Amino acid sequence: MIGKLVQRLLVVAFLFIPLSLAWAQEGSVGATYLVQAGDTLWSIAQRFRVSVSELAALNNLQNPNQLTAGTELLIPAIEGFSGRLTAVPLALGENLAGVSRKFEIPIELLMRLNHIVTSNEMYAGASLVLPQDNLDATPLPCLVLPEDLSLLELAILTEANPWEFAVQNQLTQTVQILPGEPYRGGIEAQGEVMSELACPFVELSLSPTRLLQGKTGVIRLRGRAGMSLQAHFMNRMIPFVEELAGEYVLLVGVHAMAQPGLYPLEVQWVSGDTVEYAFSQMVNVGKVDYPYDNPLTVDPETIDPAVTEPENKLWASYAQAFTPTKYWQGEFVFPSPLSKEYCLTSGDCWSSRFGNRRSYNGSTYDYFHTGLDIVGREGTEIYAPADGVVVFAGSLTVRGKATMIDHGWGVFTGYYHQKEIYVRAGERVEAGQLIGLVGSTGRSQGPHLHFEVWVNGVQVDPLDWLSQTYP
Ligand SMILES: [Zn+2]
Repeated sequence: MIGKLVQRLLVVAFLFIPLSLAWAQEGSVGATYLVQAGDTLWSIAQRFRVSVSELAALNNLQNPNQLTAGTELLIPAIEGFSGRLTAVPLALGENLAGVSRKFEIPIELLMRLNHIVTSNEMYAGASLVLPQDNLDATPLPCLVLPEDLSLLELAILTEANPWEFAVQNQLTQTVQILPGEPYRGGIEAQGEVMSELACPFVELSLSPTRLLQGKTGVIRLRGRAGMSLQAHFMNRMIPFVEELAGEYVLLVGVHAMAQPGLYPLEVQWVSGDTVEYAFSQMVNVGKVDYPYDNPLTVDPETIDPAVTEPENKLWASYAQAFTPTKYWQGEFVFPSPLSKEYCLTSGDCWSSRFGNRRSYNGSTYDYFHTGLDIVGREGTEIYAPADGVVVFAGSLTVRGKATMIDHGWGVFTGYYHQKEIYVRAGERVEAGQLIGLVGSTGRSQGPHLHFEVWVNGVQVDPLDWLSQTYP
């Protein structure tokens, strides 16, 4: 058996050599690009590395500002390609090799069309130029090569045609599939083998596709049912929750002061200590223009790390837990008797918003405001914004009388500077329940409610949770 296998492997090895040459020899003929919503002549020129005037002249455009989506523009010749081009966003969970296999486009052509030098330039949501014809074809099913078998061995064992494999998966001498990597169909194996080989992750989505400083992101994954999944992102490990069979979701909070740029997101399927399957992709984190507050002068003791650090750590520690139960339903209720609609539209109810950059006693702007300050006289009622379990209720030096509620799935809310606290740690609370009164305890410059929302270890903008439903 093995001897025969080796013999067939040798034969197959020769078959692969000429594949990569076939594409390079094609001539350069006309190409067109289908204008997408949001495109400008400038962005298209950038995309294809030509000048705006060249593009305008080639297409005889009288008014380059009037470009409508769906228009077909002539593009200067692209080596090795002729036909219609379009642009699609790179899905979360896909890399260049995956796109190449899914749509049966040689990777060299993909890189040339997109002026890509290295494949790690590609992040989720990045716009990718692809030949339109390839998008119209039905993609082959996604399968994963078992760890102990090469693709060729599998092809031989399942009596499949190695040529078809090679073509379907855009394999060349330099592009090969490694065990554990996803590839595209073509194995005429028994149903049982096929289902075992099926990719564990079918589809991933990220909302918004570009994460933002201080904002909440939602990652959804569709795949096999019953997996234990987690994501490693920005130095945190966050578990997925299986909402329905095979449908997973997780919430990610982005730190308000995170450096904008690309960060790897690794999604892992784990069983015990073993990672069964994983993939990693770059995700874009964008900048939010949070305002810079006027420099503040405070009693130096109030920013003495000897006092603030231990309290910050203690406070954050309560927000690090992950309760698999989701207690909240829909949008958060307003935590104050003020009208939520009025406050959200007028903006008159905040004395300070989340994310504001702050400087204390001449320091650099290393601080940010971790919550939303809601105006209110001393004794104004405070309501729980959603169902949950109280995890902290007590007095702290900086935060004064403070409460924290666990709403499940890594979501917590916090309340500072209260006059009275009406709940105790361990108590179940309901949306709209009276939990305390506004005060000015701790380091506060007058009565107000500092309201915080934590999402998997990070404070995020509470206004998002008051104005939309997660996940
Ligand atoms: Zn505050």
